[in-house]
Amino acid sequence: MTQACKLAAGNWKMNGLRADLAEARALAAAFPAPGCGIVLCPPATLLCAMAEAVSGSAIGLGGQDCHTQAAGAHTGDISAAMLADAGAHHVILGHSERRADHAESSALVAAKAHAAHAAGWVSIICVGETEAERDAGETLDIVLGQLAESLPEGAGAANTVIAYEPVWAIGTGRTPTLAQIAEVHDALRAKLPDRAISLLYGGSVKPGNAAEIFAIANVDGALVGGASLKAADFGAIIAALEAA
Ligand code: PEP
Repeated sequence: MTQACKLAAGNWKMNGLRADLAEARALAAAFPAPGCGIVLCPPATLLCAMAEAVSGSAIGLGGQDCHTQAAGAHTGDISAAMLADAGAHHVILGHSERRADHAESSALVAAKAHAAHAAGWVSIICVGETEAERDAGETLDIVLGQLAESLPEGAGAANTVIAYEPVWAIGTGRTPTLAQIAEVHDALRAKLPDRAISLLYGGSVKPGNAAEIFAIANVDGALVGGASLKAADFGAIIAALEAA
């Protein structure tokens, strides 16, 4: 069986101006030949400039969302082809902030992932329970349901990464126990259409907890928000993944 690839993906969310490209440059310089995949997902406004800043390095780039259509009358939206034109080959889809702020359903996430795959790009599809859902004992039902509904036909290791991100752990400094992460990742792996799809954990990953999280079976890397904004912090997380 092919092994899932190790990947550290940084989600800059709605953060970052041109001055912050220095962080991307520093990261590229620190990892000329990394022992894992590295992807930075800056806001769309920075994609072209970041592509230039890390040109020739091992850092890949990703978008934070894409439309289901390649082009057309969709004010404010960005297509997978546009992301690629700007230098991105990954796209985060179904992040809980988009599911909450933009009422994105899993069906829409699957349609967006289909569009990204058709254009030849890799989707990083996010799933995760709210705190209320965890307290109600519904975690596995929620994440496995989101997985089943968010994966488009044809999803496999070549075009798909899954990120388990408990909503209550994102940006809060709180994380599930290692056993709770393991339980969800084991359940997700068992339901993947292709067991070599990489499974990332996301939610308050930091230099101080990365190594113990990466030691969990079925955790192939991380989707990192706040700690990906600084090269020193994200670099320490990447180093922990390389060593895992
Ligand atoms: C995220 O936004 O995907 C995320 C995991 O954020 P943070 O690392 O800040 O919790």
